[in-house]
This record gives sequence, C-alpha cells and structure tokens, in this order.
Amino acid sequence: MPVRPRSAEEIELMRHAGRILAECHEEVRGFIRPGVTTLELDKVAREFIERNGCTPSFLGYEGFPASICVSVNEEVVHGIPSEKRILKEGDIVSIDAGTIYKGYNSDAARTWPVGEISAEKKRLIDDTKAAFFEGIKMAVAGNHLYDISAAIEKYAKDRGYGIVKELTGHGIGQDMHEDPMIPNYKPIGTGLLLRAGMTFAIEPMLTLGTARIRWTDDWTVVSADKSPAAHYENTILITDGEPEILSLIGGCL
Ligand code: MG
Repeated sequence: MPVRPRSAEEIELMRHAGRILAECHEEVRGFIRPGVTTLELDKVAREFIERNGCTPSFLGYEGFPASICVSVNEEVVHGIPSEKRILKEGDIVSIDAGTIYKGYNSDAARTWPVGEISAEKKRLIDDTKAAFFEGIKMAVAGNHLYDISAAIEKYAKDRGYGIVKELTGHGIGQDMHEDPMIPNYKPIGTGLLLRAGMTFAIEPMLTLGTARIRWTDDWTVVSADKSPAAHYENTILITDGEPEILSLIGGCL
C-alpha cells in the first residue's frame, strides 16, 4: 500500500497511543533492577497499557507470547519475557513495546542499564539513542526517507558500531508494520519524498561488535559475536517543520 499522510483525526489517535507508550516505558524503567525477572517487566507493561485504555500490540502478534520484548545484553531484539530470566548488575536491557488506541499504533524501544554498567555499555546506549536523534534531524517534509537512514548510518559508522542490517524501521499507522521498510543504512537522497502527515517508526539497532546476527529461537535475535547490543525507537510524525516524536514525553526536538 502506498504511504499516505494521515488525517488530523488519525494523528490525534496515534498521538494518544504514543503518549501511553512513552509513559509505559517510564513505568517499566522504574522496575528495572538486579533480581527482577523479564516476565515481571512484561506484567508491569501489560497492566499499564491496559489500565490506560490501550491494547499491547505485541501480544499475539504473529504468535508472539508476551506484551513486550525484553532483550538482554547480546540480544538485539525480540527477547521473550521469562520467569527464568533474572536481570543482574551490569546487564543492559532493551524494552520494545507497542500500543494500539482505537485502531492506531505506536511502537517504541528503549535500552536501560541494570545497576552499574561498564563505560562501553553506557556509551553504546547513549550513542544508539543519539543515532536516532541524528536520523530524525533529516525527517523533514521535502527530504527523502533514506536521508534518515544515511544519517543514522554515518553516526554509527563514525563511532565503530555494528549496524544491524536485517532488521529495519517501518511505516506505522493502522498496522504496526506498514510499508516502507526503513533500514539504518542507505545512500542519501534516496527513498520516498517525505510529506507532512506521514508516520514512521525509526529504530537504530547497534552492537559493540559485529553487525551480523543470528536467531537463538523462533524470535530472539542475538549479535553473532555475542557483543552487547542496544535498540532505541520512536514513532514519529513528519510535519511542515521539525518532526514530532509521538512516543516520547514532550516529543518535539
Ligand atoms: Mg518497530
């Protein structure tokens, strides 16, 4: 389906889904500490999302068995919450979650430290987030979509990170994953022309080592060399000015 700008009404629904999702991430963050299980974090997120009148979009998505993905250390994305998985001091944990409000989606991910972490893991977390913000500086009507990808790629490459290539950002709206795919690498000046009202999920996934990944089960993606990985994602809206970050509290640049 061709990408189309959303109506003001649709944007309002996505804004609401995004706000609840942003708050959900803050809620979950408050529970992250050594000794907590990844299943407990899933429960916190699900209860928060449902209590606030939204649906957790991940639950049952293509058979996914939980409301959020919780990916620890070398796990890049799609970690399945488990009562057997206990977070420990020095881990990093990526939380990826999605909400639906009245048929409209938001999708966002954060990577958090568990207690005290190494300087290089902290740098990875901070730079993955910074890569997102570098990318969306290019998310302006009249630019090309892959200008965002190129900016993320440059930022990550300049700092020596592995850029995961098989997983991408995406269009988002009535479905969580809509066309087009948005890789975190591409030549500048390519991809569709951005217009006000378009909505996308932009999501750099970086590692401290290789860009290569493998699957350890039907879902969980890990870095092939087991180096730590981080993920940062928001749902954004193209406007006539700066982009609006729908899944971030206080979401303007
Ligand atoms: Mg996504």
